[in-house]
Amino acid sequence: MIKRWIKHLHVAADLARASIHDKRKSYFGAVVARRNVIVGGGVNTNIQHPALRYYYPGYSGIHAEAAAIRDATKRWGDIGGCNLFVTRILRTGEIASSSRPCKYCMVLIALFEIRRVFYIEHGTVQAITVKRDDVAESLGPIGQI
Ligand SMILES: [Zn+2]
Repeated sequence: MIKRWIKHLHVAADLARASIHDKRKSYFGAVVARRNVIVGGGVNTNIQHPALRYYYPGYSGIHAEAAAIRDATKRWGDIGGCNLFVTRILRTGEIASSSRPCKYCMVLIALFEIRRVFYIEHGTVQAITVKRDDVAESLGPIGQI
């Protein structure tokens, strides 16, 4: 029997492959799943990094992880406890060796209480948990105002 996480990562890859027609630099696909059931999916629509939206008003591209979370919450509401699967595709259609979510998506993943994130790093599937506490590190009191 094929492992569930392999199946979900390949569905994310298929989503990314289906989006190869435009001029983006990278093609990410992501799915949100509760056990065997995929409850949402998405691909990146950003041409630049999402932080650039602050410099370009009206810029609305988002990462695949955010698109998948948005899709899943529209359909199901609370997606706490679900898992997220992220795959990146090369222009050739092959699965890329890395698809680690960026720090902005990690924040989003923590806020929506996703249980585990599966992605590829150096050609190997990684599984991580992201906790709210991980996304901000206090530097402590640094002085008086
Ligand atoms: Zn991201």
